[in-house]
Amino acid sequence: MDSKLEHKHKWYRFTCKDATFLLIKCDYSKLSLSEKFLVKTHLLICVFCRRFLKQSKNIDENFRSCAHDSSVHLSPEKKQSLSQLITDNTKK
Ligand SMILES: [Zn+2]
Repeated sequence: MDSKLEHKHKWYRFTCKDATFLLIKCDYSKLSLSEKFLVKTHLLICVFCRRFLKQSKNIDENFRSCAHDSSVHLSPEKKQSLSQLITDNTKK
């Protein structure tokens, strides 16, 4: 994880983009304490990211249940609709 982020952001300047980056691109459990704090603080004040997190958790669970069944593959249409869902939920 890039620790430069810690120095770059104060909680009040922490954007949705930053929050979703940390939540999605990084493994949350591996974030530093201050990064977790930033994300949690942001989630408290931002309804968009709360919604996004809820949606992405659902998606994550769907993926995980698919992973247990090797015969299940996402169709291109399904992938498209999932990425559309993520895009819609990250839009302000
Ligand atoms: Zn946000």
